[in-house]
Amino acid sequence: MSPRTLLFPMAVGGLGTAQVESLRSLVERISLAHHRTTRQLLSYLFRSSSDGMSASAPSEITRTWCVHTDSELGRVLIHRLQVATGQALATTTLARFGGPLSLSNVIHLKKSGKVRYCPICLENDLLEQEIPYGRLLWELRGVSCCPLHGVQLHSSTGCGGVGGKRIALQSRPRAIGVCPDCGSVGRRCETPILIKAGSVDLAIAHSISKVLALSEEECELVTGPAVREGIKAVVDCRFEGNTIAAARAAGIGRGSICTWLKKHTSVGLAPLVQLSIAGGADLSAMLVGRFVSADVHATAVELKNRLGRTYLRSSATADEMRQHLSNALECDEAPSFKRAASALGVSTEALRAAAPVLAKALAAKHRVQREIRSGDAYSHALSVYMQARSALLSRGKAVNQKSLQLHSGLKASLGRHGPRYRAMHDVLSDPARFELPS
Ligand SMILES: [Zn+2]
Ligand SMILES: [Zn+2]
Repeated sequence: MSPRTLLFPMAVGGLGTAQVESLRSLVERISLAHHRTTRQLLSYLFRSSSDGMSASAPSEITRTWCVHTDSELGRVLIHRLQVATGQALATTTLARFGGPLSLSNVIHLKKSGKVRYCPICLENDLLEQEIPYGRLLWELRGVSCCPLHGVQLHSSTGCGGVGGKRIALQSRPRAIGVCPDCGSVGRRCETPILIKAGSVDLAIAHSISKVLALSEEECELVTGPAVREGIKAVVDCRFEGNTIAAARAAGIGRGSICTWLKKHTSVGLAPLVQLSIAGGADLSAMLVGRFVSADVHATAVELKNRLGRTYLRSSATADEMRQHLSNALECDEAPSFKRAASALGVSTEALRAAAPVLAKALAAKHRVQREIRSGDAYSHALSVYMQARSALLSRGKAVNQKSLQLHSGLKASLGRHGPRYRAMHDVLSDPARFELPS
């Protein structure tokens, strides 16, 4: 007889395949099966207070569901759920790649209420089992289609049922495959339009899905040295060893590949996807140090638009954008308007359109603060250069741009007329203005 566990285990959907279930989906299905809400189940899992995260963990998790990387929260959740159900769950997140790969920025940005799914996968699940499950693949940034069915993922627009009764808020079922409003299993109340996926989107989805399908034994072969070996193999085979040409074709920073190979830093998953597709290489082979040709093509711009750092698809509403801006305005150090937009993952145009007055106010506040900062930098540079000047003069040495910078150790960028440059210029042209009366 197998040992008793706190919760009864539920088979992980698509285990060992690219269609593997996400940790979020599993938590939700286990909750439903135990007639608990996800919050109740999570509160139970985090009830012990041996670590500091217990009290706030459930609400933190359900707010964003950012548990699919190697974050501390994700690791603790997966560990506790494994103990509670007695089953291995390592493949339900990306955490197993967390050592050699950097997993920041790999999760699709969205609010927990908004889900994406492949309508055909959901249909097929319905034929096989009671509750359709959510794929880990659907949670990942850059993935916008189902590689199995070649259609774009559908972003749920909410319940499509007309006139029917809505389920009371506290007893709504929370699962990717169930409509929370009317309880329709398989979200049959929604009528998503099937849109054929483009070739680049398909290439990305295929490439990432093959990585998800790696078994735990294969994952052990994904190490820092192996990944570097794989990168080198692709650059050698496809770009004649030229890292800059490879980076350009992949739409990533020109020095990135060189840095990965030389400095032994961990490599982001997204740029690796970009490099593998640009080089027509199989990503899952690349991760274990081999070059295997793959029939994929995409331009640098196409790859960058889908996977690049600055391009974030965000589903922020106008209200959220206004709130975000007013929060930014209250900061002691106001961010620039551009930075505020990218922090939320929206374009500057969208942010400005949502709250024109706040946008103007933030830009103005940032400008004033920058002027104050640059004023400080100017007066600091001024006093440093004046000291250097008198030291040079006392030794009978020439005072010029070069000697001032050398002696003070404070470099002024000459290409940019910044505060240091202005200070140096003023010290050289009219030092008498700044001399203290002796
Ligand atoms: Zn599908
Ligand atoms: Zn519904």
